[in-house]
Amino acid sequence: MQTTTLSHPHPCPPAPGCTLEVAPGVHWLRLALPWSLDHINLWLLEDGAGLCLVDTGLGDEPTRTQLDQVFAARTCPLGRIIATHYHPDHLGNAEWLAQRSGAEVWMATGEYLLAQALFHQTPGHDVAAMLAHFRLHGLDEVRLERLAARGNVFRRGVPTLPAHYNRLADGDVITIGGRRWRCIVGYGHSPEHIALYCDEARLLISGDMLLPRITTNVAVPASSPNEDAVGRFLASIDRFADLPADTLVLPAHGLPFVGVHARIGQLHAHHQERDATMQTALEQACCAADLLSTLFRRELDPHQVMFAMSETIAHLNHLWQNGGARRFDDHGRLRFQACQNALPPPTPLA
Ligand SMILES: [Zn+2]
Repeated sequence: MQTTTLSHPHPCPPAPGCTLEVAPGVHWLRLALPWSLDHINLWLLEDGAGLCLVDTGLGDEPTRTQLDQVFAARTCPLGRIIATHYHPDHLGNAEWLAQRSGAEVWMATGEYLLAQALFHQTPGHDVAAMLAHFRLHGLDEVRLERLAARGNVFRRGVPTLPAHYNRLADGDVITIGGRRWRCIVGYGHSPEHIALYCDEARLLISGDMLLPRITTNVAVPASSPNEDAVGRFLASIDRFADLPADTLVLPAHGLPFVGVHARIGQLHAHHQERDATMQTALEQACCAADLLSTLFRRELDPHQVMFAMSETIAHLNHLWQNGGARRFDDHGRLRFQACQNALPPPTPLA
């Protein structure tokens, strides 16, 4: 299936510091990111006498300057902040904005607790645990050192965290601007990602769970190293299959789109293709690090190595957990091999 099956009713993003109304009372705001993924979309919802902001941008000075510009142009106060998940480009300014405006932060418990663990570098969530996880999956010492040298990247992107929050959970319905929005939890990208669906307005704020052009990063963290994150992600996006075909999806990256069902199909096809590529590559037993160049055909900086390793491990775990590959310990390195090679050849018929 081709991406041309998606339609983009708002093909021009708002200029930096400006907003664009994409549905009554729902405003699109785009902030720059200092990565190859160079922007994030935030959604500003009119909420009675105030405003509700979904996601908050990376917690750095350039982003805060852009946010200042946006709020300076608005007379309504910010009353509520929703973080779809813990990643720094989504949670980075939640506490900073809350402190300035008195707004309350709303998010899922899994996201809040993981943010606290990463911020405070608790065992299993610290840089040392990530390095050990990637070493076990075959990453070389040079690239491990480069990752170690970056220190606590999370804390640089999320300099402060709220001491308390309002909990969002799957199936919760919250009223924003007189309209009901239902929380749909998704897995595989982060522990308890919240997407918001409003049936009355036919809008889905999908966060990172459903993106129009790039595929969502699926990640296996050091703290749950055997997880089938790909399986969880695919099961999660299937939960959007019940939404009406005319739903306008408001993603965190890329353009708003109509075509939720087509996009779900494309993502399944993409992951099936990945599985097939991996199985071919696993005719020889491989570590995750051996496969980086197969899956990512470009030079990777340390930031990208971290995502690429996590994603490769996720694909390997998916094959392993579903019977497509076996996993074994080879002198302190985890190797995977396609199962047809691991099994003895079939006995010829007499
Ligand atoms: Zn994310």
